[in-house]
Amino acid sequence: MAQPQLVDQGAVVASVDRLSPTAMLKDQWNMVKELVATDIGVSHSKSWIEPLELLGLDGMMLVLGSPNSFAKDWVENHYLESMEKSWKQINMVIQGVKIIIHEAPVTIANTNSSTIPAQVRTQESFDSFEKEEAGTYTGAPLDNRFTFENFVVGKPNELAYAAALRVAESSTPQFNPLFLYGGVGLGKTHLMHAIAWKIRQCHPARKVIYLSAEKFMYQFVRALRYKDMVSFKDQFRAVDVLMIDDVQFISGKDTTQEEFFHTFNALVDKNHQVIVSADKSPSDLENMEERLKSRLGWGLVADIHPTTYELRLGILQAKSAALGVKMPKEVLEFLAFKITSNIRELEGALNRILAHASLVGRSISLDTTQEVLRDLLRSNDQRLTVEEIQRKVAEYFNIKMSDMVSNRRMQNIARPRQIAMYIAKQLTSKSLPEIGRKFGGRDHTTILHAVRKIQELCADDFDFANDVEILKRSLQT
Ligand code: ADP
Ligand code: MG
Repeated sequence: MAQPQLVDQGAVVASVDRLSPTAMLKDQWNMVKELVATDIGVSHSKSWIEPLELLGLDGMMLVLGSPNSFAKDWVENHYLESMEKSWKQINMVIQGVKIIIHEAPVTIANTNSSTIPAQVRTQESFDSFEKEEAGTYTGAPLDNRFTFENFVVGKPNELAYAAALRVAESSTPQFNPLFLYGGVGLGKTHLMHAIAWKIRQCHPARKVIYLSAEKFMYQFVRALRYKDMVSFKDQFRAVDVLMIDDVQFISGKDTTQEEFFHTFNALVDKNHQVIVSADKSPSDLENMEERLKSRLGWGLVADIHPTTYELRLGILQAKSAALGVKMPKEVLEFLAFKITSNIRELEGALNRILAHASLVGRSISLDTTQEVLRDLLRSNDQRLTVEEIQRKVAEYFNIKMSDMVSNRRMQNIARPRQIAMYIAKQLTSKSLPEIGRKFGGRDHTTILHAVRKIQELCADDFDFANDVEILKRSLQT
């Protein structure tokens, strides 16, 4: 399959006559049909999607004609979502899909072929179709923004990037499996989609399946329920490249793990490429069978590290350039400095600023950025550790750091300790038991008591509240 190209979407809308598809739209419809077929299975696609007729655009709605109301309802209830998702991938301008009943000339001539036109579908063929539901196992559609070209490379992800590119370009496995791991929002799914796109481009004949471990499990369970394991196994073992995203999802799910293990072995034994992503390294995966963990680590294990300032800045520059907006340098630097959690959040912050600017028609400045992102920035101020809080509070009240974890009960020591507990609860995302552990292994109820006590004192005593406030603020800068 050819890689869908991003088209000049403005032109599509402008040049399409109402309900009269252009050649470009027809091409896009063909690509969409391929995507939908990989999503819902070829046989369903033949039965239900092929009979639809592309009629054109109505505003931002794509209009398809259905031969009768039965087919229209069926498609709307079962395949609309998949079609809309695919359309949005191919042509970002399209907001949704509308199906109308279109009295096309009825072609019953080919009823003996394998594609029965929907308009002559009887209850019987409908039933056999339901049964066949279990027979197709497919991957998930790919996001066309997730390409190697759009991936910004920096120190934290250069190994994963290089390994992914190598796997995509080589016609035989160089390392098997490729295991990509890293925290949430750091680009694992992006890299996996990029591999799939690249393989489609370089080796179009290779059969690639990309899906989440969750979807793998779902299809496996369905195969079990429909007593269709043979077909399930055949289909997954026939692929040239199998990609499973977020494999940690099947931890603790023993039968799915077992099946995955066998699929995995069958493919690797045939020298077919397997690519897996997870949030942890193979050996750190919990509730996974030992033999699976060790097998997952046999090939190349490439980790994506948390982002650095430079990478975040590079991504912000690339994204704003791609969107064609000019962002003040100080705003990009501020964002790169403050939004450290992950790239998804960084993108979210950028989008919010752009949306706000276009909504209120004001230019983007550091001030508006801080205003628009106030809540987000607060939750990102979590570089603070409990130890730092303890040190600062001990210093402020002139007590020893060791008293933060000691059992001494004198008020002049116990009270500052409670203040430190309270601030730890306010300024870090640690749970009460976690905070308790940092204070010499105290129980979580002790921490809760301290938090309540300090709140009470703050409400009653202005000077006390002021002390606590000063401490809190000095820790936040
Ligand atoms: P993960 O699967 O690791 O949770 P994703 O691959 O979904 O993370 O990435 C989250 C978002 O960040 C996506 O929109 C992705 O395009 C973007 N992103 C991640 N890494 C990069 C990168 N190196 N360059 C550009 N965009 C990136
Ligand atoms: Mg992901």
